[in-house]
Amino acid sequence: MTNSIDEFMSLCREKTPGEKEFHQAVCEVVESLMPHIDKNPRYKKHKILERVIIPERTLMFRVPWLDDAGDIQINTGYRIEMNSALGPYKGGLRFHPSVNLSILKFLAFEQVFKNSLTTLPMGGGKGGSDFDPKGKSDNEVMKFCQSFMTELCRHIGPNTDVPAGDIGVGGREIGYLFGQYKRIRNEFAGILTGKALNWGGSLIRPEATGYGATYFAQEMLKTKKDSIKGKTVTVSGSGNVAQYTVEKVTQLGGKVVTLSDSSGMIYDPEGIDKKKLSYVMDLKNVKRGRIKEYAEEYNVVYEAGKRPWDIKCNLAFPSATQNEISKQDAQSLVDNGCFCVAEGANMPTVPEGVEVFSDEKILYGPSKAANAGGVAVSGLEMSQNSLRLSWTREEVDQRLQHIMKSIHETCLKYGKENNYVNYVKGANIGGFVKVADAMIDQGLI
Ligand code: NDP
Repeated sequence: MTNSIDEFMSLCREKTPGEKEFHQAVCEVVESLMPHIDKNPRYKKHKILERVIIPERTLMFRVPWLDDAGDIQINTGYRIEMNSALGPYKGGLRFHPSVNLSILKFLAFEQVFKNSLTTLPMGGGKGGSDFDPKGKSDNEVMKFCQSFMTELCRHIGPNTDVPAGDIGVGGREIGYLFGQYKRIRNEFAGILTGKALNWGGSLIRPEATGYGATYFAQEMLKTKKDSIKGKTVTVSGSGNVAQYTVEKVTQLGGKVVTLSDSSGMIYDPEGIDKKKLSYVMDLKNVKRGRIKEYAEEYNVVYEAGKRPWDIKCNLAFPSATQNEISKQDAQSLVDNGCFCVAEGANMPTVPEGVEVFSDEKILYGPSKAANAGGVAVSGLEMSQNSLRLSWTREEVDQRLQHIMKSIHETCLKYGKENNYVNYVKGANIGGFVKVADAMIDQGLI
């Protein structure tokens, strides 16, 4: 078994040199899938694993734009159309200086299985640019988005590829991107999700990833006859996912004591209540300030350059970025009493950290299961656009809760090992089988 995993991975590395994040994501999936594939030779015969690691299409393009000083700026744009066996390509756009092909391929690969887990008809994709919206004026962000969409609009469409937001792409960016598509193509179409409510968006879409991760944690806790009520919770990040995780955890009776950004973290032992959260939302979404300002406002500890993983907690929701929990961080979480981790961010835990969680047998919900709520409500936004109807907040929230429960059940179905649930294995196999079966049905695609 180990031999076939090693062989597969060395071939993958040889064909995609230097793509370390992509290799990390593939390796994690292949480790859980190989035993299942060995028992199901038709997947081997149809070379599904060899096929799913190669995108159906990779687009890379130049994005020139003029800054406020009138100088020419140039970024690289990407869209990875990874797999369309289950539906149109679906997955976010990330604008961050760290963006490269490897990061977007890892995200697109994960997205394929995540979207499959949601039970909605969506393929997988991801895209973005090395553009950094931080420190740019609204005008510069608009100029960049217009140039980016001028190329991207040739490749997307409501039945082809429907991008959404991710790091650095929120409501403002989605608006500028949508406007430019409409202008060029002369059609008002559901080509992006995460749109504002008054022009085709869905209620609960902004909340979906954070709420979904919290619902998933709740399902995991239920297997231990426990709940979020009364728990001390650490959250990293302070963007979209982090903010709505804080909101839902607090509503369910938990106390969130940390937040962070790429400069440092704050620790508020009293808890981030409703009023403090609205301060954070204004700080991050309107003023576009730094989390350090929270510490000044509420007179709490700020630690520059630190992440929240050595703060004592019961539950942790990493919600910033990939590889933000090292092996030592994972050990420190467990040593400090954390017994449940639900990943709001994509692949936030390094493989050695995941090993710590599984060796210690804590409840560990990997990103492709725990953060699928975002894309699930994106799928619901697509349904509402097709129906030309808007569902109520309660209706969308009910559907989201139902989807998170069903993802949890899929994880139990494929991930139960004696009296422990291996959610990594459960999510990987549960996500894979639907995609693999559809690929076999559709012939050599
Ligand atoms: P936002 O841009 O709204 O927020 C990102 C947060 O993470 C910010 O606080 C940012 O700090 C911090 N961050 C970003 N990069 C780094 C880094 N390299 N080191 C430390 N901190 C960093 O993004 P989202 O909240 O939308 O996304 C967060 C995570 O959730 C990502 O992994 C994303 O892929 C994942 N996700 C998002 C979904 C969504 O619906 N939005 C859906 C599923 C997953 P700073 O302001 O300093 O950059």
